[in-house]
Amino acid sequence: MKTPARLRLLLTLIALLPASLEAADLAPVDAAEFARCLPADAKVERLATGLGFTEGPVWLPREGVLVFSDIPKDQLLRWSPAGGIAGFREPSRNANGNTLDLQGRLLTCEHSGRRVARREADGTLVTVVDRFDGRRLNSPNDIVVKADGTLWFTDPEYGLKTNPATKQREGKEQPGNFVYRHDPATGATTAVVRDFVQPNGLAFSPDEKLLYIADSGTPRHIRVFAVGADGRLDAGRVFCRLDQGGPDGIRVDREGRVWSSSGDGVQVFHPDGRLVGRILLPESAANLCFGGPDGRTLYITARKSLYAVRTSVTGAGR
Ligand code: MG
Repeated sequence: MKTPARLRLLLTLIALLPASLEAADLAPVDAAEFARCLPADAKVERLATGLGFTEGPVWLPREGVLVFSDIPKDQLLRWSPAGGIAGFREPSRNANGNTLDLQGRLLTCEHSGRRVARREADGTLVTVVDRFDGRRLNSPNDIVVKADGTLWFTDPEYGLKTNPATKQREGKEQPGNFVYRHDPATGATTAVVRDFVQPNGLAFSPDEKLLYIADSGTPRHIRVFAVGADGRLDAGRVFCRLDQGGPDGIRVDREGRVWSSSGDGVQVFHPDGRLVGRILLPESAANLCFGGPDGRTLYITARKSLYAVRTSVTGAGR
């Protein structure tokens, strides 16, 4: 083997190695509070790169693997500490957000499938919901499950193709971009929020009395709503605004802080809406989840890569 070829091989191998970013990529704003979120020596690790557009991370505790979406490549992928990256489902109907239901079954928002799908124990896929008011959904984006088993998901129009001449989304049947509550017990689907531009990530507070919903459209903010016993939401209020990019996927930790994807990585907010600090990434983050065997790893899907960082807290809910 000639030297240039060896050099190319070496450079290729280096590029494939997991890369640790510097601890300086943690940027506290409220240092004392941020120190409760992440170990002082926490390092952001790039677990994989070279992907299309990553989204929808969810930790599967039974299997000990992370599942996430590569939307444009029409794949669901899996990652584990021992096995690295492997395929999970393809085609995925351009899967986006994922979560688990109370029985541990994988729920997936599908852009081109225009539905929320559930993976049964035997691996088959069933449609959970694909219509509201007799019309097809736009392109379900992200989903959470409440302790009562109801599914809450957002339905922006990102997955619908734009007609270059009219600039209109093609095939849109809904009169807006709504947030829905679906009760698998009754099959009923209710639009709980109708006034978002592009509803995206969503997460309950630890006691489920609050629901946070990100608007990744022009408002680029997160709103918070009081959740009524009947499953209805109040009018809500703006919880925080992102100063770098817009919020996409969000999570709440067990102590009630809101962790939002952002243009500069991840931004952590105190329950009162103040910025606690940032996890800076070289790529814009689209989503995140707590996981790992002890629940203290934050997995971040950011454009072409998957990142992870150890945390001092675990996530709320499932
Ligand atoms: Mg999203």
